[in-house]
Amino acid sequence: MSQRELIGERVGEILENLNKITPGGGVKLMAVTKYRTRQEALWAVEAGVHLIGENRIQEARQKWGHEAAPVPLHYIGHVQTNKVKYAIKLFDSVDSVDSERVAESLERGLAKVLPVMLEVNIGGEASKFGLEPQAVRPFLASVGQWPHLQVTGLMTVLPARRDNSFAEIRRIRQEMQEMADLWRMCRNDGWPWAPLKELSMGMSGDWEWAVEAGSTMIRLGTQIFGPRPVIA
Ligand SMILES: *Cc1c(COP(=O)(O)O)cnc(C)c1O
Repeated sequence: MSQRELIGERVGEILENLNKITPGGGVKLMAVTKYRTRQEALWAVEAGVHLIGENRIQEARQKWGHEAAPVPLHYIGHVQTNKVKYAIKLFDSVDSVDSERVAESLERGLAKVLPVMLEVNIGGEASKFGLEPQAVRPFLASVGQWPHLQVTGLMTVLPARRDNSFAEIRRIRQEMQEMADLWRMCRNDGWPWAPLKELSMGMSGDWEWAVEAGSTMIRLGTQIFGPRPVIA
């Protein structure tokens, strides 16, 4: 089977399963295209993914800088403030705002409103980016000082699963639940600059649980494209 057919088949299957879990629809499927070619990403769009996510600015500029992506392009990588001007030019949404420094540097470069999400480190891992859960509500309250930022959701990268034991799976689902609770609580705060329609949670290994917990946006790389090429 060609890579185009493989991608088509995998995306079709994911959309079908998604529809089984949430028959009403509404959950967005983002293809995460890091280390993938522009052509592979376009095949995923052809097969029905709703969004494209990139997590390296330089790579994204090469792929989408000359000809825009056919669906909204989201930045999901760590924001380096020296690359903010490229991020603003290229992306329809920056889903990984996790500090005042990043918010301020975006604000300084913006001439129109940019949809963003706040990244939350729900598992509290030292190795992960993101705001600590207890910092999210105070942060949201302060976003009004950056009039060009519109916070459309919360995003999280959950700790990787260490094994397939019952206890481990329970831990992950518990963290997903905590994330969904935090999202609902923040939404209820009702800040005009933070409609928080989206909860971006769930990757290739765990997205079904994330959707059951309330995720509205899943980010899949491996499950659509196969294992990532090893980069030396
Ligand atoms: C790579 C990546 C994904 C997709 O990971 P897979 O396990 O390949 O589905 C999702 N979110 C972020 C932030 C990523 O960097």
